[in-house]
Amino acid sequence: MAIQIQQIYDITAPVHPGMMVYKNKEAKQPKFMCVQDFTTASCYESRIDIDVHTGTHMDAPLHMIPNGATIETINIEQLCGPARLVDLTHVEDRITKADLETCGVQAGEWLVLKTKNSLKEEFDFQFIFLAADAATWCVEQGIKGVAIDALGVERDQPGYPTHKTLFNGGVIIVEGIRAADVPAGEYTLILAPLRLVGTEASPLRALLLK
Ligand SMILES: [Zn+2]
Repeated sequence: MAIQIQQIYDITAPVHPGMMVYKNKEAKQPKFMCVQDFTTASCYESRIDIDVHTGTHMDAPLHMIPNGATIETINIEQLCGPARLVDLTHVEDRITKADLETCGVQAGEWLVLKTKNSLKEEFDFQFIFLAADAATWCVEQGIKGVAIDALGVERDQPGYPTHKTLFNGGVIIVEGIRAADVPAGEYTLILAPLRLVGTEASPLRALLLK
């Protein structure tokens, strides 16, 4: 059966040296190196040196849980399917359970969170994040995953309850999406992380199809 696609929204952050990185840490900046170019060779080749949490990326349980699952073990079928983008650009500080209860997300769907983070080009140390009670609610709803437009699904919450609740509840975490131009509504989400073996995260391409 052919899927009729009316519109494709690319919600992936462009990756380049000088991009927005977590807490503006210089060590997290991607490095692009030209291995050879046409002055020395007949073809152009590059190498990249990037943190696996660069830009739009997926976290695997190993990020917070010793001996937790690694990125390549997440079933690709979990990463493609129905999604609901919720406009939370009015929310201040953190997204709570009360902000999500009426959003209408169904079991088996992805929840895509658009906040005022998507409207900012610079790293905001007070970025909007998902509170622990909202993470518990996500697990209770049986959603497949949650994607947020912050480089962290929580700030430095002691004990990282949001990450751990989602990981332990089988809810996949995507961070760093860019959703400024995407209206609220229902979509098909396509997430394609690199097939890295044994890592706790991977950059990915994230698309919302209408
Ligand atoms: Zn991460």
